[in-house]
Amino acid sequence: MKAEHVVARNNGAACLHCGRSVEFKMPIAVDDFVAMSNAFVKTHAKCRKPSGELCAFCHRYGHWFIDCPTVDTPSAWYESRDTGLSSLAIYLTFRGIGGKTEFPIDPDDFGRCYRLVKRFPEVMEGMARLGERSKVWARLFEHWDELCALFEEELPTGSAPKLYARMGELGTHG
Ligand SMILES: [Zn+2]
Ligand SMILES: [Zn+2]
Repeated sequence: MKAEHVVARNNGAACLHCGRSVEFKMPIAVDDFVAMSNAFVKTHAKCRKPSGELCAFCHRYGHWFIDCPTVDTPSAWYESRDTGLSSLAIYLTFRGIGGKTEFPIDPDDFGRCYRLVKRFPEVMEGMARLGERSKVWARLFEHWDELCALFEEELPTGSAPKLYARMGELGTHG
């Protein structure tokens, strides 16, 4: 069984997704060790990663993007691992140095824009200005709160059909 989030740690095993761990009494017969390890893996193989455990900004575990200790300014975000064409369009327009108007075309794109303006609300001004040059951005800006609510509602499920459909109604699917 493949479960890379279940690891051997301190005289035992730990599940990096739910945070639970076991310790085996040492010394232990190797057969018992293997059997107990396998049982632990089986129990935790399908543990879901809690949302936010992996920081989308710096790709380290243990904090949510909103609490990221290293990506704590819009400029640090620009250097982060969470940029995409549409979120860059917001940021560069906000900074007054971009002429591109790419809008998000799927929930992954949307997520990058969502995190950027959620963490740095002042950057929202860039989206407002994009709306002056792009009809799609104008509609996204107008309906931003509604889209964010859909995004947050569907986030724990791992797919976002409602968000995707609503984005399409607002013109992001071309
Ligand atoms: Zn677990
Ligand atoms: Zn981080």
